[in-house]
Amino acid sequence: MRRTFEALTRLVGGGDVVVLSGAGLSTESGIPDYRGPSGAARRHTPMTYQAFTGDPEARRRYWARSHLGWRLIARAAPNGGHRAVARLQHAGLVRGIITQNVDGLHTAAGSTGVVELHGRLDEVVCLNCGNLTSREELDRRLREANPGFAARVTEVNPDGDVDLPDEAVNGFRIVDCGICGTGMLKPDVVFFGETVPAPRVADCFALVERARAVLVLGSSLTVMSGRRFVIRAVKLGIPVAIVNQGPTRGDGHATVTVDGPLGEVLPALADRVAGPATPVGLVVGGASAG
Ligand SMILES: [Zn+2]
Repeated sequence: MRRTFEALTRLVGGGDVVVLSGAGLSTESGIPDYRGPSGAARRHTPMTYQAFTGDPEARRRYWARSHLGWRLIARAAPNGGHRAVARLQHAGLVRGIITQNVDGLHTAAGSTGVVELHGRLDEVVCLNCGNLTSREELDRRLREANPGFAARVTEVNPDGDVDLPDEAVNGFRIVDCGICGTGMLKPDVVFFGETVPAPRVADCFALVERARAVLVLGSSLTVMSGRRFVIRAVKLGIPVAIVNQGPTRGDGHATVTVDGPLGEVLPALADRVAGPATPVGLVVGGASAG
């Protein structure tokens, strides 16, 4: 581990790094990674876009679970890994951050210009009129529509979903768009079976193509949505470093792999290459212009 950590510090210390992060970065914030070693397999299959839009019962089930899961996500705070990435960015070593996470914790930790590949759970979009509202606003409306709704939260998944028995779901009332009155509301995140908006993908490819190195954090690179950026980097001869707990589908292509807890590896990395930690609120200048 020591030798690979040294290789990691050399790669990241050279600057012009683009970070690609996944669910494993947020596990230490209490959001389990259903693909990683701690999460094992989730108990139900993830909601697909087709089921969400085509099946009212599936939609009701999603919102009932998500109504509870949202509170846990909203309470989650960035961990040492997120803060270390922000330090690397403020030290001018990281030129871009692409995340597969929908929890907003990179930005909460002080990072700027984060490309949220799969959207953000704290925003809600109307599929009819396209109006964007905050999740807080929807949360208030769902509480009003479901007075006394209470069910035991057993587990929260990275997409803000919880496990909930069917009998608890049946009485749940969903609400429609408050602007057009009839539109179906959906969290502004990319569901399984849905594609990431093309301009967002193009932005990510552009970031990767200009990078001197790509740093994958907490992603098993199982889904093509993130793995394609690693494949592009490898094709262009751009070195790839991976910090993750457990093996990833990119290990065969990586210049450096560090298998360890991100909340320990990343602060140690930042200490080595970004200088001493700056108290939150006192971060000045130094950020990469992009
Ligand atoms: Zn609407």
